[in-house]
Amino acid sequence: MLYNSVMDSEGLKISIAHLYPKLLNLYGDMGNIITLKKRCRWRGIEVEFEEINIGDKIKEHDLYFIGGGQDKQQEEVKDELFSHKAELLSQRDDGSVFLGICGGYQLFGHYYQPHGKDKLSGISLMDAYTIAGDKRFIGNVTVKTNFLTPNTLVGFENHSGLTYLEGDSKPLGTVVIGNGNNGKDGLEGGRYKNVFGTYLHGSLLPKNPHFADYLIELALEKRYGEKINLSPLDDKLETEAHLSVIGKNY
Ligand code: GLN
Repeated sequence: MLYNSVMDSEGLKISIAHLYPKLLNLYGDMGNIITLKKRCRWRGIEVEFEEINIGDKIKEHDLYFIGGGQDKQQEEVKDELFSHKAELLSQRDDGSVFLGICGGYQLFGHYYQPHGKDKLSGISLMDAYTIAGDKRFIGNVTVKTNFLTPNTLVGFENHSGLTYLEGDSKPLGTVVIGNGNNGKDGLEGGRYKNVFGTYLHGSLLPKNPHFADYLIELALEKRYGEKINLSPLDDKLETEAHLSVIGKNY
């Protein structure tokens, strides 16, 4: 991978927290953290990184990431995550960026209702809720977005939860191939302020470098209070990976 160190990013910094990676890190969701770190460091942007595990305090960060997990792991995390609800809502309102994948996304909403079990309370970072469906959605997903260039997101879904957006929550895009949030309304993912959730594993960001840079720019804007446009990297391999999934059958 050839890359150009971009002088205009030298000396910048963002802080990233990975929430509960020992429990919520399904299907290589750790790849999202690796991508964020690499795309910052390739540009000379310093990354302060912190893993947050059960029992840890949660400090202020520019970007928080939480991965996916089976119902069991979500049950193990939900009380701990809920205990930090007020701090995380405050961070959201201060402009911090959040990215949640699948099970983590579900806990960004008001609740996740698994089959035949008690409702898992979410932290209401976005106005949404999830109810377990009768079948698992498993396969490749192509999404058309209206806020990214190129206007596509690709990934792999594996969930039974059906997520419904409410209020001011907006989707990441519309489903071209796959099921997305619930297989009914044609929507995938959710966004409110700088909080993003999606069902796209893969992991998501290595094959969607434009979304990774979008999130990094939001995190920089939160930290420095102004829009900072990242200079492009040589994304030949990442773009080939993205294009290889677009339109791939379910
Ligand atoms: N347990 C949740 C579901 O089945 C989330 C799964 C996941 O994170 N891949 O919908």
